[in-house]
Amino acid sequence: MGEVPRVEVDGLWRSFDGERVVDDVSLSISAGQLTCLLGPSGCGKSTTLRMIAGVDRPDGGTIRLDGEVICDPVGSLPPEDRSVGLMFQDFALFPHLDVAGNVAFGLNGARSARRSRVRDLLDRVEMGRHIDAYPHELSGGEQQRVALARALAPKPRVMLMDEPFSGLDNRLRDEIRDQTLDLLKEEGTAVLLVTHEPDEAMRMADEIALMRGGRIVQRGVPYNIYNAPVDRDAAAFFSDIN
Ligand code: ADP
Ligand code: MG
Repeated sequence: MGEVPRVEVDGLWRSFDGERVVDDVSLSISAGQLTCLLGPSGCGKSTTLRMIAGVDRPDGGTIRLDGEVICDPVGSLPPEDRSVGLMFQDFALFPHLDVAGNVAFGLNGARSARRSRVRDLLDRVEMGRHIDAYPHELSGGEQQRVALARALAPKPRVMLMDEPFSGLDNRLRDEIRDQTLDLLKEEGTAVLLVTHEPDEAMRMADEIALMRGGRIVQRGVPYNIYNAPVDRDAAAFFSDIN
């Protein structure tokens, strides 16, 4: 028997005003694996991610976490019970809490264990010396690294990231992408990363799911998607990568 995927999405769909913006999407992500949902703006990426997070309700399809159904036409587990970490471009830190308070926010358990988890994560994102700082005292890149530590602190089974690096300038972005990837791999989280940038997917993904018009049109390792695009549109989408 094969390993049960951490996340398994089967036949997911969602329509707005009678139009299917997510149409029969299926994907699976194992623990420790990063899947990129890649496609042009408006193709349905964020809607897919929001349904997996539990903040939007599908019209049909099934979502499983470690083999357990967490969403189907019968019922839906609330987002706070799904063990998912979230990161968005403009998912702000809590302004009234310092860095330590932000990272500790979702943590339960003994105070000493919480403190060591916070300290450890902040050291690993090179933010240890800013532990007492407030968000407004930090640069965009620093805030992003704290947000990553905060999202990972409760050891979510799944990390859902929606264009998390798009607000950063180019030089910083590469550095933070690499650092994020290292930390996610060390933690062994399953990751769904949404992006419209082929180079980001090529750089970070174990697997790419190429999306267009609400559907996944191709899935595979980056090398294969890049070298054997499924059609002309897919080839064109990758053509301006550098
Ligand atoms: P992406 O993240 O790939 O840019 P989205 O999932 O945000 O795409 O949106 C897909 C389509 O669904 C778009 O046409 C968008 O306008 C539409 N859409 C998304 N959310 C809503 C909503 N709450 N109400 C109506 N239309 C929506
Ligand atoms: Mg989006």
